[in-house]
Amino acid sequence: MTFVVQPTLLYGRKYQKGMNWITVTAMIGFHIGAIAALFFVTTGALIAALILYFVGGMLGIGMSYHRLLTHRGYKTYKWIEYFLTICGTLALEGGPIFWVATHRIHHQKSDREGDPHTPREGTWWAHMGWIITGEGLHHDASVLSKYVPDLCRDRFHVWLSNWHWITNVVVGLGLLAFGGIPYVLWGIFFRTTVGLHTTWLVNSATHLWGSRRFMPRDDSTNNWWVALLPFGEGWHNNHHAHPVSARHGLAWYELDLNWLGISTLRMLGLAWDVKVARIAQAVPYEENDRPAGEHEDSPLVLEEDEAVA
Ligand SMILES: [Zn+2]
Ligand SMILES: [Zn+2]
Repeated sequence: MTFVVQPTLLYGRKYQKGMNWITVTAMIGFHIGAIAALFFVTTGALIAALILYFVGGMLGIGMSYHRLLTHRGYKTYKWIEYFLTICGTLALEGGPIFWVATHRIHHQKSDREGDPHTPREGTWWAHMGWIITGEGLHHDASVLSKYVPDLCRDRFHVWLSNWHWITNVVVGLGLLAFGGIPYVLWGIFFRTTVGLHTTWLVNSATHLWGSRRFMPRDDSTNNWWVALLPFGEGWHNNHHAHPVSARHGLAWYELDLNWLGISTLRMLGLAWDVKVARIAQAVPYEENDRPAGEHEDSPLVLEEDEAVA
């Protein structure tokens, strides 16, 4: 399933004027908390941070926000979709409706006018600048419904998008009760700050540095050191070439833990209609600037690949 949106909100550097002081204050606070964590090292706190990093980044952002909600690379039961999406809110990257809207526009406008975070407008801009400036990215469901009609019809996703920060408050209070301040510093502040930077590297580094297996119309690259941190999201050239594929690491040596997670769901009978691209598959013509005639043999809709576990 491909979602085509016609943006009316104006994205990109020249439209995002002024600092968003709420976001700036939150980011400064979380970075200070992350640095403070380095002075309160305990084994238990490190383990808690690692587990939450996995839950928020892999189960949440990779397997739900990105590959399920944005691109619908596979189908699953609603209760699994909701559970994984709740995990995603732990990453502190906003609610699912905001995240999916921004990312669908990124794919539609990749590295061209209207891309919310292209490094063509500056490396720092693509990494963090776009999130701390302007108001344009912060809209409620009624404004974003044009971009995310599927999620806006779902009352749970609308509700969760309004209350996405609650999960970190609940988990933070639990950590405080269980292990005290070190657990909160590591499990909330350090873990979310590192998680944000690893996600932002996908927007900055993998549109700048790395190799290009496919030639979609954007600047996306495959980058092994970015790939490892957010559980396989750094095989970003593969992803831009075949956005619907639930598998991003297409070669055997391209470690993609998010894909392993989705494969596991399929093995357990909890995921189906899983879309998988192949290395030899040409880029669908609408994804690059070459004339359509060069791609007459290319399937535009990926087939489910039962052979790939
Ligand atoms: Zn991208
Ligand atoms: Zn994507």
